[in-house]
Amino acid sequence: MSAVAKEWREIPARYNLEGSECGNCGRKYFPKRNMCPHCRRNGFGKMRPYDVSKKGKIFTFSIIHDAPEANRDLKPYAVAMVRTDDGLLISGQLTDVDLAQIEIGMRVRAVLRKLGDAGPSGIIHYGFKFVPDL
Ligand SMILES: [Zn+2]
Repeated sequence: MSAVAKEWREIPARYNLEGSECGNCGRKYFPKRNMCPHCRRNGFGKMRPYDVSKKGKIFTFSIIHDAPEANRDLKPYAVAMVRTDDGLLISGQLTDVDLAQIEIGMRVRAVLRKLGDAGPSGIIHYGFKFVPDL
């Protein structure tokens, strides 16, 4: 399978915030896991797919002033830990927002966005970012 095909195949998992839920204890994980770390030693922990809520609020955040080479056009930008409405803590870049207006507790939702420009491989990376959910 080509790298481009692989990239497209992975989009649903990234965009839909596909996590996993333990069939034994019901704990939810993102990114998805193959085994529940809580139940593993009991021989349980069979996981099933779980779609994480795309909405939540900012738990904590950082303004990044020193962007990596590939993201020169983005800086400065904000990265947040978001507590989803179903209780998971996931990290992602905040976009479409005035950095000065970001605050803990702000409502956000996940959207599909381009993560970077095509490199030598010609692949454009997509994934989720968070935007204000007003
Ligand atoms: Zn479990």
